[in-house]
Amino acid sequence: MNLIKKAAEDISKAKMGIALTGAGISTESGIPDFRSKDGLWSRYDINEYGHIDSFKKNPAKVWMMLREMISLMNAEPNPAHYALAELEKMGYINAVITQNVDNLHQEAGSKNVIEFHGNFKRVVCTRCGKKKGVDKIDMENLPPMCECGGILKPDGIFFGEAIPRNAYLKSVALATKCDLMLVIGTSASVYPASQLPYLAKGSLTKPKGIVIEINKETTDITGIVSDYIIEGKAGEILPKIVEEIKSITS
Ligand code: NAD
Repeated sequence: MNLIKKAAEDISKAKMGIALTGAGISTESGIPDFRSKDGLWSRYDINEYGHIDSFKKNPAKVWMMLREMISLMNAEPNPAHYALAELEKMGYINAVITQNVDNLHQEAGSKNVIEFHGNFKRVVCTRCGKKKGVDKIDMENLPPMCECGGILKPDGIFFGEAIPRNAYLKSVALATKCDLMLVIGTSASVYPASQLPYLAKGSLTKPKGIVIEINKETTDITGIVSDYIIEGKAGEILPKIVEEIKSITS
């Protein structure tokens, strides 16, 4: 059977479907993932710039990279984000757990979005904890400072920082409870988000869930955790799945 049809059937039969998304769902919006050959990450060593210790040691230097990254995030949602929002509205997707920090699911209309790695469209003061939109800060002089004199940091996590507690607990609960997970545009290699498909798949104490990958290429979980992969661009595949669900349920 055609895999788009199969996914549409599986999604329409699921009692509780959720989605786990990664950087690949936003590449069609123009935001590079970690794998892009000539993107941001080929100029900045992610191990160096992406670690909280680097930020603490030299926030101005890391903010140079962040300023560029945040300007790239000034992007629009693409058909994949809109299709997921539509699946939620139609009642087939209960929540989107995203590793992305670009806010594009929310901008596309998804309501129940769990920000597993936080959100770089907000900043938080490292001293007083006050949060505000990144568009409200002056990025001319780096690092940007809070009125209280503290250094501002994106309200998302760096390597070496813990996953926000609520997001972690909610995600684990959802992944354990769901009977279908769409794993979209993620290499499933960044821990602990990479463990969520395993929870969805099931264990001795949980009935088996269906795990469907949508990715341009196979990943570490393909054929091990995922039941099947629909290879290609998320922005082309997801709208087709939505159309197929509409045709089988109308
Ligand atoms: P990753 O870069 O490790 O993997 C991206 C995956 O998406 C790859 O498997 C790739 O084959 C796939 N992909 C790329 N374009 C695609 C498309 N159009 N359709 C379908 N699949 C596509 O990303 P990750 O797994 O999310 O992990 C990297 C970490 O970096 C995460 O924390 C992520 O959130 C963060 N990050 C976020 C952004 C963002 O917020 N947009 C951008 C870069 C990195």
